[in-house]
Amino acid sequence: MNVFKMEIHKALEKYEPVIGIEIHAQLKTKSKAYCGDLNEYGHIPNSLTSAVSLGHPGTLPKFNAEVLNHAIKLGLACKCDITEEMHFDRKNYFYADLPKGYQITQDKTPVCRNGSILIRLENGTKKEVELTRIHMEEDSGKSTHDLDPLNTLIDLNRAGVPLLEIVTEPVLKSSEEAYQYVTEVRKLLRYLDICDGNMEEGSMRCDVNVSIMPKGSHQFGKRVEIKNLNSIRNVQRSIDFEICRHASLLEKMKNVEVETRTFDAPSGKTIAMRKKEAAHDYRYFPEPDLNPIKITSDQLSAIQKEMPPLPNDLYDKFTTKFNLSSYDTLVLLEQKEIALYFLDILNFTTNYKSAANWVMVNIKSHLNQQAKSIDELEIKPAYVGELIKLIDENKISHSLASQKVFPKMIEHPNESPSSIAEKYNWISQSNEDDLSTVIFQIFKDNPEETKRFKEGEKKLTGFFMGQIMKATKGTADPKLTAKLINQLIDNQ
Ligand code: ADP
Ligand code: MG
Repeated sequence: MNVFKMEIHKALEKYEPVIGIEIHAQLKTKSKAYCGDLNEYGHIPNSLTSAVSLGHPGTLPKFNAEVLNHAIKLGLACKCDITEEMHFDRKNYFYADLPKGYQITQDKTPVCRNGSILIRLENGTKKEVELTRIHMEEDSGKSTHDLDPLNTLIDLNRAGVPLLEIVTEPVLKSSEEAYQYVTEVRKLLRYLDICDGNMEEGSMRCDVNVSIMPKGSHQFGKRVEIKNLNSIRNVQRSIDFEICRHASLLEKMKNVEVETRTFDAPSGKTIAMRKKEAAHDYRYFPEPDLNPIKITSDQLSAIQKEMPPLPNDLYDKFTTKFNLSSYDTLVLLEQKEIALYFLDILNFTTNYKSAANWVMVNIKSHLNQQAKSIDELEIKPAYVGELIKLIDENKISHSLASQKVFPKMIEHPNESPSSIAEKYNWISQSNEDDLSTVIFQIFKDNPEETKRFKEGEKKLTGFFMGQIMKATKGTADPKLTAKLINQLIDNQ
């Protein structure tokens, strides 16, 4: 154990961490939340900015209904209570990347309340992480402080991009739970196809609140908020750092300051940014330029019908109907496109375990080697299904299938595995007469071994199997070959 790990271990013997997470997810929509500017990443700075994004006086926002649709989808997936009547609020503050002087958000009437997200921990236990709320709001512009030595640069392409803020109750108990929670949220957003979850590009950002209290206590300690973590690994690292820092302050009878901190990834440390006492008064009030929203039950049921398969439903299906292990299931579900590809294969075979193995082993390692995504995979699911069938019907051996047929299928994606196997003579030889001829020849070529085998040296079976496989280029049906060797030796 390194020094840091030992320190955490010691802190956790005496204290219990309490963690709550706020996630901002940029929504995948065609246009921004309150105007028609494109919502796209990577354009020339300030090129996606109409008078509304620029906050010119006299402009009016117009709500993009796609945002509400996405919010409700997430709410339904997390079993939240969906608010029937809601409105937007103004959150007032002054900052250079917020030209209007306020952010349109939801204060008193978040679109979703309650609900939970299921996480699975490494030791096999499960936990429902309770949510406080999910609300809709808009992103601010982006300030860049380190490109120009004298000025802060501002890009307002991001101003007005729709966000969902997802807030948990203070119920997470360790950095591992936090890691799993953020992983699960990202997976869910991607399955729902409402956010790309790309933390490096900032389309999903995490603020983590951490405090510790003596074990067994019910009174939460003083908390800090770590802002804008840009990877899931850094969520975990920053929490571990804070647990140690808080514990060492408490051990020295010092107070934990309530403050906002930032994480410095190279050193693995957090740094104080500002004290909570200096927090703004945002003077929230209802946004007068946007109508309140009413959600009808028809609207809810229409969205319910559009819901794609979700990771937890698939988990249950994979582990019960397909009888796959929890480990295999989680590997297959990690990425939606992989899970769907796997399901596609099952339209052509019912050998679930074999289909899972082909995806997890052969297909995944091919994709890794080529740095390709599954969308770029050359092979059709139908052909993977056909390959599995060929193996199951003993028409081709598993090793030939994975070593020879599979690479050829990648080279010639329009040729079926059976036509490839036939073309290259890889179909198993299961004709008794043909195989017997080969076996007799091998007995003849190896008189010494044949004599010992006949006298009862059974371990020579392996030797003969090897010779026969070599002679038939791996196509001899192994079961039939083993049977024939033992029958024919008696006639020698
Ligand atoms: P703020 O308005 O400062 O953002 P919130 O009440 O909205 O505060 O809480 C923000 C997050 O902090 C929530 O996820 C909540 O669960 C979490 N939180 C609240 N109290 C604590 C605490 N003592 N320790 C850790 N997390 C906490
Ligand atoms: Mg907050």
